[in-house]
Amino acid sequence: MAKFAIAIHGGAGTIKREQLTPDKEFEYTRALTDALAAGYDLLEKGSSATEAVEAAVIELENNPLFNAGKGSVFSAEGKHEMDAAIMDGSNLQAGAVAAVTSVRNPISLAKAVMEQTKHVMLCGSGAEQLAKEFHLELEDDEYFFTQQRFDQWQKAKEAGEVVLDHSDEKKFGTVGAVALDVEGNLAAGTSTGGMTNKRYGRVGDSPLIGGGTYASDICAVSCTGDGEFFIRSVAAHSLASMMKYGGKSLIEACEQLVQKDLVEMGGEGGLIAVDGEGNIALPFNSEGMYRASRRQGEELVVKIFRD
Ligand code: ASP
Repeated sequence: MAKFAIAIHGGAGTIKREQLTPDKEFEYTRALTDALAAGYDLLEKGSSATEAVEAAVIELENNPLFNAGKGSVFSAEGKHEMDAAIMDGSNLQAGAVAAVTSVRNPISLAKAVMEQTKHVMLCGSGAEQLAKEFHLELEDDEYFFTQQRFDQWQKAKEAGEVVLDHSDEKKFGTVGAVALDVEGNLAAGTSTGGMTNKRYGRVGDSPLIGGGTYASDICAVSCTGDGEFFIRSVAAHSLASMMKYGGKSLIEACEQLVQKDLVEMGGEGGLIAVDGEGNIALPFNSEGMYRASRRQGEELVVKIFRD
């Protein structure tokens, strides 16, 4: 039987050690540790990979440190338009939502789309209507407000730019989780507020199945970075295909995609992935990536910088 395993990310980018105060580093480390534990504990009790992924992502969405749920960036209209997706690799079922504004936990709405509808993706008010029907928690704009994201938006507006989370620090705060459960099933989930000052209706890679999120019986993948590049390289599915049809190992496929293909295109970012054996890869081509992982019976690993 495969060992169960879980990995999470809280975004990649130009995260410089000298810019992160010890207090902030401690806050991020604690947030990642707690989110990982939420998923790991479920896996330990025999829950499915999908449930573990949802639990870990909810923790990250509820934490304003990350650009997902509470703490999501501002769009050009001063709104928070969030994207999320979840995929169950055991049956290739998937659910996704795009440009939702009032849903506290977009990952749970994506799961509801997967489990309760015949569709894969709902957007905008149609997705929000489903959230109401399923009595998911809704919040007003104030809940999603954070001063830091507001200031970033003002800066981006003044410069007339569309930027990924922090333009100055170039940090992508999207969150995601991938897991392998005791039954040997894989799942992946990703959730984001997208890009600061993005156009009304812009959808990134995170909710696109095969783009920023994918899971099969081969691997589970969640991406973070310049969304448009991950969409055009069909990043998450490409990784799975390199393994399935190209015979590459998880590590080899990650190396090809993240360090070669994306770099050639000019796409900055990273991903987290786990395969059916419980091997974990956390590659990125940026300065850093908020990340944590743990395999059954092994020590927790939490890292931010390249080490
Ligand atoms: N990939 C996300 C997007 O383009 C951004 C991120 O990873 O922070 O929406």
